[in-house]
Amino acid sequence: MSINNPYLSYSDYLKDIYGEKVYKLPVKLNLTCPNRDGNVSKGGCIFCNEKGGSFENLDVSFSVKEQILKNKDYIGKKYNAKKYIVYFQNFSNTYMKYDDFIKIINECNIEDIVGIDISTRPDCIYDKQLDFLEDFNKKTNIDIYFELGLQTTNYHTLDKLNRGHGLSEFILAVNKIKNRNFKVCAHVIIGLPWDNELDVIETSKMISVLGINEVKIHSLYIPKNTVLEKMYSDNKISLISLDEYIDLVIVFLRYLKKDIAVQRLVGRMPKEESVFCNWNTSWWKIRDLIVEKMINSDFYQGDLCNYLDGIVFI
Ligand code: SF4
Repeated sequence: MSINNPYLSYSDYLKDIYGEKVYKLPVKLNLTCPNRDGNVSKGGCIFCNEKGGSFENLDVSFSVKEQILKNKDYIGKKYNAKKYIVYFQNFSNTYMKYDDFIKIINECNIEDIVGIDISTRPDCIYDKQLDFLEDFNKKTNIDIYFELGLQTTNYHTLDKLNRGHGLSEFILAVNKIKNRNFKVCAHVIIGLPWDNELDVIETSKMISVLGINEVKIHSLYIPKNTVLEKMYSDNKISLISLDEYIDLVIVFLRYLKKDIAVQRLVGRMPKEESVFCNWNTSWWKIRDLIVEKMINSDFYQGDLCNYLDGIVFI
């Protein structure tokens, strides 16, 4: 954090760990998700389209190693980058046979790779894979990060989102990962139609008390061809305004422990893929508005995080 940045940015956090700027290399696998294939549910989360998460990847016909080397070459030349984190982003990147999992992880053992970031669901954390990752980390010195979708601590809202898991599965997953000394990032959505400010505060506090290391904040955008789109077009849900979003993000940050890195303050998705996204405002403009308001109000990340060491004075 600095005078111009009232929250801990992801790039500063990585610079602190690795001594220089670190770049993410997205890798896409040919996967699905148990919340889409019928194992947990068939419909998927109500906001999930068939892409399962991202829009910035190479084709799955390339092997993991090929994707890493291609992206590394491109980003290395463009930014003079020296260190990288491999990022498995789409769908549930632990939801596969054990042998397939160890194969893809072993393919990441490439020069200049300092970390592997695995995005998955809280109910797809398996002890056998964690055993392997622990061993892999010891042998290669490559750090292991997990990204877990939480979205909100309000389990009634999780049910409405058709997440297929509650809060307890998330807590269990975080504990399992933290027990191996791996780092965890939680994804949250601010502006869910069934949540209020109290839910946003509780989500921030839950992330802080669980010792989570990073957080990714998204506004609620509405992708095409989703259940959420139908609810939106049928006027079954109402969305918050940009001003309300800014205020809720600020409240969230104020309750968030100071050393938790904020990967992003708002998500993004291509215009042609959504019927509503970020009030037609660019993500950097929204980020600037949040930062400006925090600085002008003398607010900063964690200034209300007074609940970690007993709040009642003795
Ligand atoms: S868990 Fe992720 S990939 Fe699976 S349905 Fe939900 S958003 Fe989509």
